[in-house]
Amino acid sequence: MMEEAGLQKSIQYVKGIGPQRAAILAKLGIYTLQQLLEYYPRRYEDRSRLKQIVQLEHKELETIMGRVVGSEELKPRRGLTITKLAVTDDTGIVFGVWFNQPYIARQWKPGTKVILSGRVERRNKEIQLLDPEIEALDHEDIIHTARIVPIYSLTENMSQRVFRTVIRQVLNQAIGIITEPLPDYIRQKHGLIDKPWAVENIHFPTDTISLQQARRRLIYEEFFVLQMGLLLLKQHNQVDEAGIKHTKDGDSVAAFMKGLPFQLTKDQLKVLDEIKNDMEASQVMNRLLQGDVGSGKTVIAAAALVKTVENGYQGAMMAPTEILAEQHYCSLKALFAPLGINVALLTGGQPKKVKEQVLNAIGTGEAQVVVGTHTLIQSQVSFKGLGLVVTDEQHRFGVRQRALLQQKGYRPDVLVMTATPIPRTLALTVYGDLDYSVIKEMPPGRQPIRTDLVSSDVRRRIYKFMRKLIMEGRQVYVVCPLIEESDKLQVEAAMQTAERLVKEEFADLSVGLLHGKMKNTEKEKVMAQFIRNEINILVATTVIEVGVNVPNASLMVIEGAERFGLAQLHQLRGRVGRGDHKSYCILVSDHKAQESTQRLKCLKETTDGFSLAEQDLILRGPGEFFGTRQHGLPDLKLANILQDHELLEIARKDAEEFIHLKRCLPEVLKSILQERFSGDSQLVFIG
Ligand code: ADP
Ligand code: MG
Repeated sequence: MMEEAGLQKSIQYVKGIGPQRAAILAKLGIYTLQQLLEYYPRRYEDRSRLKQIVQLEHKELETIMGRVVGSEELKPRRGLTITKLAVTDDTGIVFGVWFNQPYIARQWKPGTKVILSGRVERRNKEIQLLDPEIEALDHEDIIHTARIVPIYSLTENMSQRVFRTVIRQVLNQAIGIITEPLPDYIRQKHGLIDKPWAVENIHFPTDTISLQQARRRLIYEEFFVLQMGLLLLKQHNQVDEAGIKHTKDGDSVAAFMKGLPFQLTKDQLKVLDEIKNDMEASQVMNRLLQGDVGSGKTVIAAAALVKTVENGYQGAMMAPTEILAEQHYCSLKALFAPLGINVALLTGGQPKKVKEQVLNAIGTGEAQVVVGTHTLIQSQVSFKGLGLVVTDEQHRFGVRQRALLQQKGYRPDVLVMTATPIPRTLALTVYGDLDYSVIKEMPPGRQPIRTDLVSSDVRRRIYKFMRKLIMEGRQVYVVCPLIEESDKLQVEAAMQTAERLVKEEFADLSVGLLHGKMKNTEKEKVMAQFIRNEINILVATTVIEVGVNVPNASLMVIEGAERFGLAQLHQLRGRVGRGDHKSYCILVSDHKAQESTQRLKCLKETTDGFSLAEQDLILRGPGEFFGTRQHGLPDLKLANILQDHELLEIARKDAEEFIHLKRCLPEVLKSILQERFSGDSQLVFIG
């Protein structure tokens, strides 16, 4: 047996593939034997049921076996040659019909035994098979007909027939060097067939059951490899050296809990317990906290920060936008003031002098808790002793940024928060290196937000409604359409909208404007005015998507709603309904495409962020769901995290058990993991 490296061989040197075909395959991203074998069929056609010619049914896709008895060439008009091949099986005669392929007649001489597959047409008292696949019966590998036939996604210049033939050749040559990465006991436990058999059958299944078994086996392997990689990463983070062992809660934490103006919900208490347990353990905490918008994650993070300060460490909280960082800064300052904990804010937009002071306070440890944007991970930031790192809205950061902040301390605990509810299955694949806590219930007294979908011709009615709520003392957000790839255009749109509102309707009220291109001081000023209810209507871009908390705002109007993703709309909508007032969200869209109305209706019908995220994922796929900024989505070829979530869960459990029992990694699996996970991130270490 050759070693695994054999599959890394360039396909160029395979018999039957010259430089020319290799160049075409390169366009499909195929350079090595392995890549070719992992180029799985897009679908299959069942041509396995052979019929007798008398049994053929009009319009059906059928396969017959017979003997060529003659051919005929017709030229009904210039540029069109029709070749007919007569084939009999003693129950009747069928005519294979090809267009502009005159060589067919030369290639298939009378007397040859063939298999034909194609669409049946009964016309002019003849039974015809249109443009059928044809194959000699005495051919050693029947691959194009009389079986379940693979169909691949191909480019021009590469026919299904040629590609199939190439795959068959490579399989014949390489099947012996495909090695088994899965441990035997795992295969036995789940009745998973062996790898060479699976690869053979995913391309050329002997029957439907074999195909299912091959798929199941290969999907399992993809998940298992992924989970092993993530768990080894997690283990590496934990076991290598011990982290910080926080003490049991002391006076500060107790005082903090006592000082809260509300009681924590059951879910909040549960996740806080999970977090505290992690922090008190000597292992490094790596925990993901998920909770829908408004479920009360900030207060949980605050409690954890108090705990680390109580232990003499500093805490850091990183937010994706300056507005959100500032808001966290304000709420933490208020929460911590009675405890005498010193909070600092660090953002990119701060004046140099302020920044220097803050950097200094971070260095001396005078700043006990630091809130900031990604400025926090810059090199000039140096903590005296970092004990806990919190990242809010983690889906906006990459794994790398999280790691960089963590490296600012000596193995600090890490809490990652996100309000974009990620379906559990996806969380396992994307955040599989993290432990997982979730807040499902909302604080009591929240009123459901009423959501309506309207077109822009009812603008007058929207204005009237806005005015009514404002007269009752409430405030309104107007969110401008998302303009992809152009912040500038989006800012212009926001300015125009604000102008229009003043001109058309609200000259007597105060209309504010907030967008990403404004100076920090301006942004702060506007937000402060809005918080004080000096601004009635805040026109904004998506800068307000995350975190903004003004409970008196009870209406959000979203223009061009079809341009946003479901999860994003849900986030935006979460800016209202944060107080005791009945709240509304009006989605304005003139888009009539079914796909977008369907999406917007989902939003109208459900307020559960988790189920919306699930829908979004189904409608748009994981890549879109996360947006281009999210890296680290695993490269899965066959597996679909939604459809195959049961196998994902099984693979996750197996991988956990495998690592827990300290089993020995099979060499093949080890090299696959190394190949897959190294390079992804400097973090990843698989020994
Ligand atoms: P998230 O960050 O999860 O979106 P926040 O932490 O901003 O949510 O909380 C939203 C609002 O709910 C805040 O005004 C917060 O003070 C309040 N809140 C949090 N927990 C509770 C609770 N248990 N009872 C009542 N109000 C709560
Ligand atoms: Mg939050």
